[in-house]
Amino acid sequence: MMGRRRWTVGVDFGGTNVKVGLVGPDGHVVGRRVVSSGQREDPTRFIEDVGKAAEELTRAVGARPSQLLGLGVGAPGPVDVERGVVRSLVNVPGWEAVPLRRRLERRVRCRCAVDNDANLFALGEWRFGAGRGFRHLVGMTLGTGVGGGLILNGILHRGTTWAAGEIGHMVVHPAGPRCGCGGRGCLEAYVGTAAILRMARRAIRQSTGPLRTLAAQAGGRMTPALIHQAARRGDAAAQQIWAEVGCWLGVAMANLVKLLGPDLIVIGGGVARAWRWFSPSMLRTVRGQAQRFMAEEVRVVQGRLGDDAAMVGAAVLVWDTNR
Ligand SMILES: [Zn+2]
Repeated sequence: MMGRRRWTVGVDFGGTNVKVGLVGPDGHVVGRRVVSSGQREDPTRFIEDVGKAAEELTRAVGARPSQLLGLGVGAPGPVDVERGVVRSLVNVPGWEAVPLRRRLERRVRCRCAVDNDANLFALGEWRFGAGRGFRHLVGMTLGTGVGGGLILNGILHRGTTWAAGEIGHMVVHPAGPRCGCGGRGCLEAYVGTAAILRMARRAIRQSTGPLRTLAAQAGGRMTPALIHQAARRGDAAAQQIWAEVGCWLGVAMANLVKLLGPDLIVIGGGVARAWRWFSPSMLRTVRGQAQRFMAEEVRVVQGRLGDDAAMVGAAVLVWDTNR
């Protein structure tokens, strides 16, 4: 029976779109769909879109929907994992206390599981990516928000509220800027996309280099990718922004190293593409702030699964969840 049910669907409810992938038993994504993100506020529509994508993907490999082992979802917000309820989503209204697991199971007629997307990033990288074979892993995702997932002693650590590992909301400066979570001086308020763009808008006033040119070409619409490109073209202001991002990441990371003693920290998410520009100051800060013997033990690397990590992690979640 198990042999025939070999496909699992992984869903990554991301900042800009919803990605659905069909994952094989070896963790490879064999098919992908991007579901329209226009109706994200409506859980009913989301469930229908995901259900349809799951059917299409299953059909594409010549399998029947009844051969699906299960479906896992990574949601960008706190999730009650035991009950399968999404408490709320960051920046998406209409998702208060949605019993997503139960409603999905009714639609796709197989076992479903739901967790926070950054937890699933960590789980995916740990099982099939850069984190293979490590015992204590911290996963960090850099994008619109800054997410975190903790694998401690080989177990995804969620804490009493299921929301442990909110690295983006660790306070790195108590008198710092306001954060979307209501707190002040969170890591995300320094290295989230909004903070990076704010720095760029400030820098551009003094810039006469590539940052200004690229921004003008883009009609003034700035993105982290554009600031990354400017850095590559030698724009000193853009490089300085990334150096500053690296410093704040390093502060948070030094605290994580001291608190948890991980053997690996894996960084992913769209903003992590600028790795080359923020990692030197990040690693320097970790070495400067954490005790030497601890800082020397931890490896800090980029994720290996790219944009697939949370989808693959969602499949792992289904496999690891026994109900
Ligand atoms: Zn916060």
